[in-house]
Amino acid sequence: MTPPTPRSGKPGGGKSGGGKPGGGKSGGGKPGGGKSGGGKPGGGKSGGGKPGGGKSFGGKPGGGRPAGGRSGGSATGGTGGTPGRRRGPQHAGTTKKSQPTRVPNEPQRPQVEVHDPDGIRLQKLLAACGIGSRRASEQLISEGRVEVDGQIVTELGVRVDPTRQRILVDGVRVQTDPDKVYLAFNKPLGVVTTMQDDLGRPCVGDYVAGRRERLFHVGRLDADTEGLLLLTNDGELANRLAHPSYGVLKTYVAQVPGPVPRELGKQLRAGVDLEDGRAAVDSFKLIDSFPGKAVVEVVLHEGRNHIVRRLLDAVGHPVAALARTEFGPVRLGNTKPGKFRALSAREISQLYDAVGL
Ligand code: URA
Repeated sequence: MTPPTPRSGKPGGGKSGGGKPGGGKSGGGKPGGGKSGGGKPGGGKSGGGKPGGGKSFGGKPGGGRPAGGRSGGSATGGTGGTPGRRRGPQHAGTTKKSQPTRVPNEPQRPQVEVHDPDGIRLQKLLAACGIGSRRASEQLISEGRVEVDGQIVTELGVRVDPTRQRILVDGVRVQTDPDKVYLAFNKPLGVVTTMQDDLGRPCVGDYVAGRRERLFHVGRLDADTEGLLLLTNDGELANRLAHPSYGVLKTYVAQVPGPVPRELGKQLRAGVDLEDGRAAVDSFKLIDSFPGKAVVEVVLHEGRNHIVRRLLDAVGHPVAALARTEFGPVRLGNTKPGKFRALSAREISQLYDAVGL
């Protein structure tokens, strides 16, 4: 029986049957080297759920949340009540039965000129961003599901500037700047999370050395942790994603000494005192167990150094091998160690949504 995870077929991962604890270094993962025994960190499972909550472009017309902030609560100058909450039709004048009721018009949102004659057609842009075919994008526009700079656009002739304008589909931001790059990288064991390493160690930057964009890594993984690392040149998104206040969930799969007692999850969810303060996981589950060892999944929004290792160590189950399998809505999937893939338009939108951009 082979434990389903932390094994990139490499360093510390050992052979099947569970590799040997200790992770350790690796000769592994040379830039571009791909190989590395194929194993997929975090393998199979990687937990159900859909961290980051699945917004989609597929909803019903009108289902989104217009970003422009419609009238509602305070804008109607109400008499108190919950700000921002609509209170149903308000009838002007008397309420006598004989009087026809009249629902006042909602204040119009100011009309903003979103058409840019030098821009590109909205449906073409949406299609280029992976939202759907040109035809499907036209339909989204006609159905009133596309918003540009706070304005619903239903005409098909509108042109926009993708580098300047803010475009939402069903209330979810679409990243349209062609210069922005979003990658899911499978960091191999033994590679340090820096774009350049003065000590000459293999580093993440080696894997993207040929690219012209200036990429940042979103947060860090220890050298002896493998798995999903996001790379982007979108500085604001990167900063927010890495900041614990946005609570973006990260999923890790760890191999630890077993057996794992039933109450371990409860203990970790309740919180554990570490030297730099208390820390807790958002969820914990036992994925598999073998004689003397177990594979567990830990989900948390913490970003402190070595947090998973320190937490599991503190509860008596020191990590033997560790892989990150998910970051918010993004999953590592089949990307092999040392390889990366471009995020889909949907994943990018979900990341934006997760950090309120
Ligand atoms: N927690 C750790 O202990 N190591 C990592 O690389 C990431 C989270």
